[in-house]
Amino acid sequence: MASSTINRDRLLKRHALMATFGDTGRGGVIRPALSAEETQARRAILDIARERGFACSVDPIGNLFIRRSGIKNHSAPLRIGSHLDSQIPGGNYDGVYGVLAAFEVLETLADQSVSSIRPVEVVIWNNEEGARFAPTTMGSAVHAGALSLADALNSRDGEDLRLEDELARRLNDLGSLTQIPLGTESFGYIEAHIEQGPLLESADTPIGVVTGIQGIIQFNVTVIGEEAHAGTTPRSRRKDALAAALALIDEIRTLTNDTEDEIRFTIGRLTVAPGAPNTVPSKVVFTIDLRHPDEERLGSLHVRISESCKNFVSPCEITAVTTLNSPPVKFDCNVMAAIEKHADQSGIKHMKIASGATHDAKFMAGLCPTGMIFIPCRDGISHNEREWAEFEHMACGADLLMRVVKQLCMSD
Ligand SMILES: [Zn+2]
Repeated sequence: MASSTINRDRLLKRHALMATFGDTGRGGVIRPALSAEETQARRAILDIARERGFACSVDPIGNLFIRRSGIKNHSAPLRIGSHLDSQIPGGNYDGVYGVLAAFEVLETLADQSVSSIRPVEVVIWNNEEGARFAPTTMGSAVHAGALSLADALNSRDGEDLRLEDELARRLNDLGSLTQIPLGTESFGYIEAHIEQGPLLESADTPIGVVTGIQGIIQFNVTVIGEEAHAGTTPRSRRKDALAAALALIDEIRTLTNDTEDEIRFTIGRLTVAPGAPNTVPSKVVFTIDLRHPDEERLGSLHVRISESCKNFVSPCEITAVTTLNSPPVKFDCNVMAAIEKHADQSGIKHMKIASGATHDAKFMAGLCPTGMIFIPCRDGISHNEREWAEFEHMACGADLLMRVVKQLCMSD
């Protein structure tokens, strides 16, 4: 009788194989979207899929779909997956783990001759990282209609290569694929991923049941003062843009210092002009990146920061412009309940967790019941060659995904 669990040795073997594509020799990979290395990784999965008799297709933005048929093959598929592209350089777990966990589920269903009602499809999203072509989560955004296909195809990399040309070139190396349209219906979507943060590891918990993806608001703040001689201008006469910016930043930082440590507040860029040692700064531009999982809380912080900038008392002129407002996404209660139920039945410790990072699941959540399963990663490190996850946790997450898929693919 076939074992009721996934094939751990195979998962380990596939993971080692993927690590060879774009291997930096320092524990990580360089595998940006539509690179030769990412194409080799995609091809390797497709070759195994074809051998196993799964149907392989592609949509106009280069998302790949690997299907195991169901009894009602015209019903919307249950989709599972993630991405194979990496940061430059990136680790061996971000994205690739979710693809391999999903593919292992498909193979296990085939090994066990499970007669699912619905088809089950592994999705390999194109360009999740946005490291080579902007924006991030491009494939899922185009699939969901949140980004136009034309804009995505027109995206250019640092060498001025157009995504459309690169996509056409790489598709030739992927073998025969059925073309399917954008936005085909999904019955549900589940993505397994490393947490990319330290919470599961600190709580010694192997499974995170992801409640949603936190919202992001970004600002560009400009402070205009006046250039003056650093040696001759008394304090009372100065319109020092940097001094004003620092005082304002201090005020905003205080209002985002929550006791729960849930608000994520970052100033990642600050430029000072004219940038001469002996001139009082006349202009400072800085960014604010603000994140929170609760829409109301994020909204009220948005208002408070805008008001702080507007009402700040200073000899300088301050303007704050919101450059990004992406509300939090909540995952489906039934998907979360199914993940929790199967974790309980398998005796696996789990906890609810909000995703600090963005994922393709964000766009899928607007189309169908969606959920994510997180596993811990060492020290919470990600987007780094030192990214590392315990194999025990990888196998545990893949096995849990398999159990949830087995339940959901039987719904009519
Ligand atoms: Zn990822």
